[in-house]
Amino acid sequence: MRNVIIIGSGPAGLTAAIYAARANLNPLVFAGMERGGQITLTDDLENFPGFPDGIGGLDMYQLFEKQANRFGSEIIYDVVTEVDLTGDVKIVKTADKEYQAKSVIIATGSTPKRLGIPGEEKLIGRGVSYCATCDGFFFKDKKVVVVGGGNSALDEGLFLTRFAKKVTIIHRRDRLRADAILQERAKKNEKIEFLWDTVVEKINGEDAVKTLTLKNVKTDKTSEFAVDGIFIFIGHYPNVDLVKGQIKLDENNYIITDRYTKTNIKGVFACGDVQDPIYRQAITSAGTGCQSAMEVEKYVAELEGTAYPGKK
Ligand code: NAP
Repeated sequence: MRNVIIIGSGPAGLTAAIYAARANLNPLVFAGMERGGQITLTDDLENFPGFPDGIGGLDMYQLFEKQANRFGSEIIYDVVTEVDLTGDVKIVKTADKEYQAKSVIIATGSTPKRLGIPGEEKLIGRGVSYCATCDGFFFKDKKVVVVGGGNSALDEGLFLTRFAKKVTIIHRRDRLRADAILQERAKKNEKIEFLWDTVVEKINGEDAVKTLTLKNVKTDKTSEFAVDGIFIFIGHYPNVDLVKGQIKLDENNYIITDRYTKTNIKGVFACGDVQDPIYRQAITSAGTGCQSAMEVEKYVAELEGTAYPGKK
């Protein structure tokens, strides 16, 4: 019986592991299919405090992992296939083994939705991005496209105007989904232009994005559009397949947590992007990972009757 099993190895999961290990809880971490999560999609992380010269997403993941190992976390490079979180003893299964724990931290992250078009996968990190905060800086005085018509597209599009000389927001309809206030700000911004009723069919370029093949959905006319970068904000999927039906989710499928990262199930905590539709940053994920581990420490101490009075 483990004190805590952590599912996920992004900044949230590994920060939870560091804190839990330093609290002598001997955490067991399942790294999952995409070790390190979304940070590993980023070439250069420049906004994580402590790295004034920036750090590659993959390098950062390796440092997180090293630090978690240093304090005795056990990391298993396997995928959790099934969980039963409802009882006092939490069951976590992989394809060939079953594990038991007193508590579980869900840190499975979220996945940016992809357009699923030719060129997209190949050019990720070379002009195709899903995070303006992470990559906007690399597009100083360049031309970029933002795909989407929701709050993220407009929020991030506005952010990109700090760097890019032109931001073209391409939306598949002629009406935005985003809040009125963001629409107003975007429409007033001289660097932003809109291309309505348009979809991106193809991203072209060998080592970097060069052009997009666009199609007007009303006229069926296709055209080539020269750009340096394309930012895709068509929503995220929180990775909740494992816990669906057990943990309460909001209307967008994010895990509902309180301010202590507690879910509706006793002994089950969630941190990082799987419970955060708003900030979705490495630093905020790490912050909630720390919270989850500190809450687990208290939860386990209470179970064992070793909690000290007054500790909230
Ligand atoms: P969203 O609201 O679901 O919007 C996604 C946008 O992408 C929609 O405009 C949609 O078009 C478009 N889209 C979806 N699939 C597409 C495809 N295959 N090809 C082209 N376009 C596609 O997602 P979001 O903007 O990421 O926001 C998610 C949640 O976070 C929302 O609740 C949002 O309010 C919240 N959020 C809030 C803020 C803020 O308050 N500042 C900032 C960011 C996010 P259609 O409109 O045609 O469906």
